[in-house]
Amino acid sequence: MEDVIIIGGGPAGLMAAQVLAERGFSVTVCEQKVAPARKFLVAGHGGFNLTHSMPYETMLSEYTPPHVARYIRDFTSKDTVDWLQRIGIATYTGSSGKVFPAGNIKPVQVLQAWLRYLGQLGVTIRYRHELLDFDAAALKLQHKDQTFEIPYRKAIFALGGASWPQTGATGSWVPLLQAKDIPIEPLVPANSGLDTSDDYSGMAGCVLKNIALRAGSVSRKGELVFTDYGLEGSPVYYLNRELRRSGLPAAIYIDLKPQLEADSLLQVLQQGHRHITDTLKKHLNIQGTALHLLKRLPKQVFTDPEQLVRHIKNYPVTVTAFRPLGEAISTAGGLSWEALNDDLGLKGYGNIHCIGEMLDWDAPTGGFLLQACFAMGHYIGNSLPLPAD
Ligand SMILES: Cc1cc2nc3c(=O)[nH]c(=O)nc-3n(C[C@H](O)[C@H](O)[C@H](O)COP(=O)(O)OP(=O)(O)OC[C@H]3O[C@@H](n4cnc5c(N)ncnc54)[C@H](O)[C@@H]3O)c2cc1C
Repeated sequence: MEDVIIIGGGPAGLMAAQVLAERGFSVTVCEQKVAPARKFLVAGHGGFNLTHSMPYETMLSEYTPPHVARYIRDFTSKDTVDWLQRIGIATYTGSSGKVFPAGNIKPVQVLQAWLRYLGQLGVTIRYRHELLDFDAAALKLQHKDQTFEIPYRKAIFALGGASWPQTGATGSWVPLLQAKDIPIEPLVPANSGLDTSDDYSGMAGCVLKNIALRAGSVSRKGELVFTDYGLEGSPVYYLNRELRRSGLPAAIYIDLKPQLEADSLLQVLQQGHRHITDTLKKHLNIQGTALHLLKRLPKQVFTDPEQLVRHIKNYPVTVTAFRPLGEAISTAGGLSWEALNDDLGLKGYGNIHCIGEMLDWDAPTGGFLLQACFAMGHYIGNSLPLPAD
């Protein structure tokens, strides 16, 4: 019998497998897909933020609930960078603090290096092995058209959330756990795009750079993309938490010139230039998508400097809905913390531990999600007592 069976071959499960194998455990990972870590690979499309270099103390505030970060205390972003270095993956830190693979290293190369290392450690990965059920003594799995039960000493569930289900994160574990009266917080989209009441389909694909987006007292700078349904982009994702708290529909506001105060803008607009459009372009460098957006305003607003400034600093957009969970970058909600002991053990099932995105926590994009998954995998890998202990 293996010492530990890990269900789910995403970053959380693979990190747990690695640390356990380094400590001398025999480890088998059961993954329902034909390949591991598909979401990890998807995450690599268009900016692979492996972690964030923010100091641990500051990082804490990025997580909801904050105690998720206790796992990061023992495996910080620096530890992630050192570990990647150890498996042959150099990284670099961008000006925003996000940590990327260096040079031309592709996500698949990061995964291959990791799998190679796991192979050297003797970790077995069984593909097309889906967890169907479990009790205190055995796991019921399906492989192709066969179902079978395997007894286990220790099991780790790292089953992911329910966004991008094509990667294997289907959330199919939710009814399974609920049937055992294990509390689950509803799975909802996190870091998702937003539907808006106004139709921006004519601007689909247009990008607003260097703006700030605000909901209530929460504001984030970054790049915003218009779509057929509304908005995408990192500040949009960042505001998800606040919008979930305040509820929808809700107004959010775009600051098209965060680097300039309203007074300075007004001064320029009131300097008597004849053409507002020219003034915006030449004197305030407001052009392209930003100008297009302002030109959607009623003429009497666009031509009145005071009203125009109000809209440059606070362009209102009404958000009606989050995009569906399947499209979101991550999942909020999940296995309730009430169901877990401090050591991430599942109450009532002392030999099962749960880690990764399937737990009820949330963080913004930018490397924080993977960092927490790595850290939880690392934590559980280090905390399971050796079989002979
Ligand atoms: C488009 C996109 C971009 C992203 N970009 C970033 C980024 O740049 N930086 C960042 O930090 N994060 C990013 N993320 C988020 C990050 O990829 C996830 O948070 C992370 O992969 C979650 O890891 P996990 O191991 O908990 O779950 P997953 O990676 O979802 O892995 C869970 C695994 O469990 C398997 N599984 C599920 N149920 C069963 C079952 N019953 N039996 C057997 N196996 C099962 C699944 O097939 C899957 O392989 C991105 C996500 C998306 C979708």
